[in-house]
Amino acid sequence: MTSPTRREFIGGAFALMTAESMRLPLWARAVPNAASTPSAGQILLGVDYYPDQTPEALWEEDSRMMSDMGFTNVRIAEFAWGLMEPSEGKFEFGWLHRAVEILHKHNIGVILGTPSAAPPPWLSAKYPDIFEVNAQGQRLRPGGRRFTCPSNPVYRKLSLAIAAQMAKKFTDNTGVIGWQIDNELTLGSSLRCYCNFCQAGFQNWLRTRYSTLDTLNQSWGTVFWSQTYTDFSQIPVPLLSGGDPNPGLALDYDRYQSYANVSFTEEQLTMLRQMCPTHFVTTNNVGLPLDTIDLRSLFAKLDFAAIDNYPGFFDMLMAQQGKPPSYDGIATGISLGHDFARSVKGGEPFMIMEEQSGKAGQSTFAPQPETGQVRLWTYQGVAHGAMGINYFRWDTATFGAEEYWHGILNHDRSKSPAYEEIRQTVKELKALGQEVLYSQYAAQSALVFDYDCSWAVKIQPGHYALDYMTQVTSWYGAISASRTGIDVIAPEADLSPYKIVFAPLAYVMSEKQAAKIKSFVQGGGMFVTNFRLGVKTVSSQIVRTPLPGLLRDVMGVTVADYIPIYSAKNAVKFAPALAGPDGECGLWTDILQPTGAEVLASYTKGSHAGEAAITINTLGSGKAVYIGADLDAASLARVLRTLSGLAGIKQPLEVPPGVEVTMRRAGDKQWIFLLNHTAVSQSVSIPKTFTDLLTGKTHTGKIDVSGYGVHVLT
Ligand SMILES: [Zn+2]
Repeated sequence: MTSPTRREFIGGAFALMTAESMRLPLWARAVPNAASTPSAGQILLGVDYYPDQTPEALWEEDSRMMSDMGFTNVRIAEFAWGLMEPSEGKFEFGWLHRAVEILHKHNIGVILGTPSAAPPPWLSAKYPDIFEVNAQGQRLRPGGRRFTCPSNPVYRKLSLAIAAQMAKKFTDNTGVIGWQIDNELTLGSSLRCYCNFCQAGFQNWLRTRYSTLDTLNQSWGTVFWSQTYTDFSQIPVPLLSGGDPNPGLALDYDRYQSYANVSFTEEQLTMLRQMCPTHFVTTNNVGLPLDTIDLRSLFAKLDFAAIDNYPGFFDMLMAQQGKPPSYDGIATGISLGHDFARSVKGGEPFMIMEEQSGKAGQSTFAPQPETGQVRLWTYQGVAHGAMGINYFRWDTATFGAEEYWHGILNHDRSKSPAYEEIRQTVKELKALGQEVLYSQYAAQSALVFDYDCSWAVKIQPGHYALDYMTQVTSWYGAISASRTGIDVIAPEADLSPYKIVFAPLAYVMSEKQAAKIKSFVQGGGMFVTNFRLGVKTVSSQIVRTPLPGLLRDVMGVTVADYIPIYSAKNAVKFAPALAGPDGECGLWTDILQPTGAEVLASYTKGSHAGEAAITINTLGSGKAVYIGADLDAASLARVLRTLSGLAGIKQPLEVPPGVEVTMRRAGDKQWIFLLNHTAVSQSVSIPKTFTDLLTGKTHTGKIDVSGYGVHVLT
């Protein structure tokens, strides 16, 4: 098959968006008659390529081989600032033109990366103010990448200037289909900048947010420790001081740092929209909802979300933490990232800009994917809503900090273990058909991810081991075990599409969110939450009412006391509705006093033995469940699964551990993706006869899914 031209890609995407009644993005709207070529659309399947690191004599061969692999596109140039602007204001795009031309000749569309993640040495030498200052007050040094301050005006001006020169040179180049702004914003050696430019930027941002110092002082409670500000210029950044910073200031600083990075991106976006109106524009970040930057804000104005996916890192991380390898753990981590990536733009398709294809890492290697795993991860992306996948990377660098980061070609340009597997996968996906690729991921459950909660808990965890991300991940793991389809939503999102909404560690609660939860429950939904509920206002002040603050009526309980758990362990005994062995309490116990709710579990130890640990309240035609104890993983999974059942969630198929089942729908048609994340064959019972789209075979009664195998059933 030939690769799509930009117009064909846009045409396909147009069909995708309209089929799903989605907002048509700018890059589709900008092309007249895009609707006339919907049949030409196909999934983007490409590779991350570095012509800047590859002898020019090899570009032709590389492009021919990529075309032979069936690739439709590459992403290039995102770290090539030094080659494009060898000295200030002197631009060299000849090499990039030649690379784009050769790739285009082989029907490979180009996504151009703007290079602001890696300023060249001339820039660092001339403008040393651009370096980030970390949380210890130390200024980073050049020599790596991503060592810059997002607020620095010179860095922003020069980043915009090089991107604008690229846009000017390539706006009419038919080989270019879109743009990636920067690369993995905030994911450097330091996650926050605390320099003087950021302090000034923070003070300006606060002026806009609060208008007056009176409002700011009230919101933060600055009378404490005599911190009342009489001029915005007095407001510090939360660097080391004698004692902890004001929690309101610290939370606002997290918000500001996210804003600074988003506005840095939007400067380039505004320019690209103006200069390249028919190109799509995105940026890439990790899919997991890390709290270094608010991805919902980051992707809000971009055409689609794009994430990087390295499953081997989960394996490496578990080994580093002394945890046993877990197929479910790895699969769950990837799924959470994909579900978040799809959800940040309200269910729109996303792209995997970097997909692990070999051993990956800078100073150490993540594991080599087993035979079948790269294909499996590709289908997992598609199952969760990906419309494009770029494998990282084409050839493997023999120099630089990522020499260990294996691509599709090895260091000696021999083919990697995944080469043929990727070629086969690309062929299969192109044959799969648009109907499946353009169908919609089906979710009846939602998991709330709230940046404010993540930041506020990090500032004042309450228990040294309490971490928002860990809570969200373990709840996602517990819910996904029930295979129901999950969106990962913002705290103030519309809850009406869901039967059940989970919100672990909802520590910060806005009035708007509380009202939406109340209305959701009254209307028949089930809301499930846990300890530390509604403790804080959005200004990070503790509420003046009994806990759980704004949700007392909805939950039908008052928190009589809250107790962090260290050596004095506690446990809970479940009522028949949640029948199971006694559960252990890990980090925390909220002691619940029902004011209308029924008790589903009680504490068994300590001075609160016999008091309520889990409750369920009926409000209108819905239910609200409060899990006061930090339950062990098995108990949590059982409880959340039982509650899902009570909420009317039906599993499409019963599957053994390590097998994932995901559903996509279009009208009255549905497709079930069966993904075996284990190395051994697994048998899955099926209630009716299914046809496998990948093989054309029909299956009745049961289906044996081979190790790392994939089935797309209809
Ligand atoms: Zn800074």
